[in-house]
Amino acid sequence: RLSRRGTHAEPEAPAEGPGRDLGTLPGMRDLEAMRAAGAALGIESPYFRPHEGIAGGRSTIGNRSTINFASYNYLGLNGDPRVAAAAKAAIDRYGVSASASRLASGERPIHAALEAALAAHYGAEACITLVSGHATNVTVIGQLLGPRDLILHDRLIHNSVSEGARLSGARRIAFAHNDWQAAERELAAQRRRHGRALLVIEGHYSMDGDLPDLARFAEVARRHDALLMVDEAHAIGVLGATGRGLAEQCGADPGLVDIWMGTLSKTLSSCGGYIAGRRELIDLLRHTAPGFVYSVGLAPPLAASALESLRILHAEPWRVARLQANAALFLRLAREAGFDTGHSAGLGIVPVILGSSVRAARLAAAAFEAGVNVQPILFPVVPEGSARLRFFLSAEHSPAEIGQSCAILAAARDGAALLRAS
Ligand code: PMP
Repeated sequence: RLSRRGTHAEPEAPAEGPGRDLGTLPGMRDLEAMRAAGAALGIESPYFRPHEGIAGGRSTIGNRSTINFASYNYLGLNGDPRVAAAAKAAIDRYGVSASASRLASGERPIHAALEAALAAHYGAEACITLVSGHATNVTVIGQLLGPRDLILHDRLIHNSVSEGARLSGARRIAFAHNDWQAAERELAAQRRRHGRALLVIEGHYSMDGDLPDLARFAEVARRHDALLMVDEAHAIGVLGATGRGLAEQCGADPGLVDIWMGTLSKTLSSCGGYIAGRRELIDLLRHTAPGFVYSVGLAPPLAASALESLRILHAEPWRVARLQANAALFLRLAREAGFDTGHSAGLGIVPVILGSSVRAARLAAAAFEAGVNVQPILFPVVPEGSARLRFFLSAEHSPAEIGQSCAILAAARDGAALLRAS
């Protein structure tokens, strides 16, 4: 290290402060506290449990066979032999990796084919895909907005949107969940002090399984000259009679939305994110979004598996109907058992809200022992007092598995003897 005089003289004394003490890094204390609380209560960590095979309606975790409600395999396409065959064929043809940014030499025909299919899905002019859903929100929002701009988003918006907003440097305002009138009030008060405005909502909220009123939000965005962005991570393949997402569910024109965003990792059984919208927007992102320009193109087998999953989604709408029927059944049985399921629309995601994090962690552990795999969502991901178990339904679940799981959950809550899921 150079001294101030620019020579390799005596190293300078370390500056005051935390320096190389890793214990002071952000989040370290919270992580230690969470581990200590788990150990004191005798609850094993519910995180990082390896699934031994394909995580579908059932999944083997360790040596335990479980009914699985913790994966986003909504239509059961992750594991479909046609999807696997498409991925394998793409590997044979293009290799596993795109090996470069698409701008440089990473472009393969499968990229354009997938993007054309996704654009058509939304009736949009064009689409761009990136290597992860999270990275898509961060880089696209970070690129499109700047410090003079305004970003309004639902209070329950996904972390990737708030990270993108932070990166952009724009003024960021969170409004009450699904409250388009609150969004309108904020826009009325703040809009003229800012250059551009972006209003961001989700198509289907993953913590609560509820939906926004798309037509109302679109009206608000239009009235206040804001771009409207909808994150369809949990909406594509889940909402609407044929799984087209929020617009179909609401009977609204998809053209009301300026920026359709989604991930390839859930219904589409792949990995990656996408933006669909007007051609000039997509063209701009293709040349400027750092997470696209300076990152590798989507791996060919992942592009191929998403494209095949999208084809099956459109060709086999019975899968969507089955998912929605399963979710409706779960919602009804959970309510009948006396659980608080919040505002779930019963279309794919049903929360069982338990209150304290300890209660939620205990119930998840007991359910797991009995062969039901469900992820607890604890403080600080949700405020203390609204900890929950989140049930992600799949077209692969049978009504019998859903009935059995609700019975196990109720027995665990009541301290009754638990029968193992069969
Ligand atoms: N948006 C929402 C609403 C999500 O739920 C998620 C993932 N849980 C993402 C974006 C990020 O997508 P991915 O996991 O594909 O990176």
